[in-house]
Amino acid sequence: MNFVVLSLFPEIIKSSSDFSILKRASERNLISINAVNPRDYTLDRHKKVDDTPYGGGAGMLLSCQPYIDAYNSIEKSENSKTIIMSPQGKVFNQEMAKKFGQYNQLIIICGHYEGFDDRIKQITKAEEVSIGDFVLTGGEMPALCIIDTVTRMIEGALGDEDSKENDSHYDGLLEHPHYTKPREYMGLNVPEVLVSGNHEKIKEWRRLQQFIVTKQKRPDLYEKFLKTELSEYDKKILKKNNLI
Ligand code: SAM
Repeated sequence: MNFVVLSLFPEIIKSSSDFSILKRASERNLISINAVNPRDYTLDRHKKVDDTPYGGGAGMLLSCQPYIDAYNSIEKSENSKTIIMSPQGKVFNQEMAKKFGQYNQLIIICGHYEGFDDRIKQITKAEEVSIGDFVLTGGEMPALCIIDTVTRMIEGALGDEDSKENDSHYDGLLEHPHYTKPREYMGLNVPEVLVSGNHEKIKEWRRLQQFIVTKQKRPDLYEKFLKTELSEYDKKILKKNNLI
């Protein structure tokens, strides 16, 4: 996967690939992260990339020319997708991450200041994506959230391939609780089943915990999950515990 980020602060993007899973995925050539700075493409002799909004109002807007020229400079691969970071977009989730992971190239346009001239979105045909109902200063952190999440979806990016399937949100549920050594800490014990050595029972307990935790913490997700086609295994556990 080739990530290309259009950003006025390319250092924020570049430095992120020097750590942890992104670094390893880059070293394994599973991903590449490039940043393109629209300021390098501005035709303004003062290197300006923004201007005041028509109709008045506070703040500065990012102008079309540097963004569109920077966008056009990117060599597009055949299977390329363009998204634009915006608090007005569809809220990013695991499903979208899986979908984005199927492209060969993800071009991410980051805003700043008051946002963009609307024509940037129209010309690039970018899909607006938000990372939540709040407003950040710029699109770099949202872009990194997306890069990180999509990278985890790429085969071979994680050390233990199992870990992503068991993660929260992978199949619509939250993850079960985890425990590590010691077995007793400040009077709190690790649930007996986890030290029983009975793998079938452990598997069933973990699945049940996923139902319980999701029902408690995110009833919206739990209701949605119950409406999906449940496996016979899930139905058995849910029935046994009077959850359906
Ligand atoms: N005036 C804009 C509005 O009200 O919709 C907000 C502009 S915001 C200060 C500057 C830039 O940060 C946006 O253009 C966008 O790229 C990014 N941004 C801010 N909040 C975001 C969010 N929740 N999700 C994705 N991008 C966001």
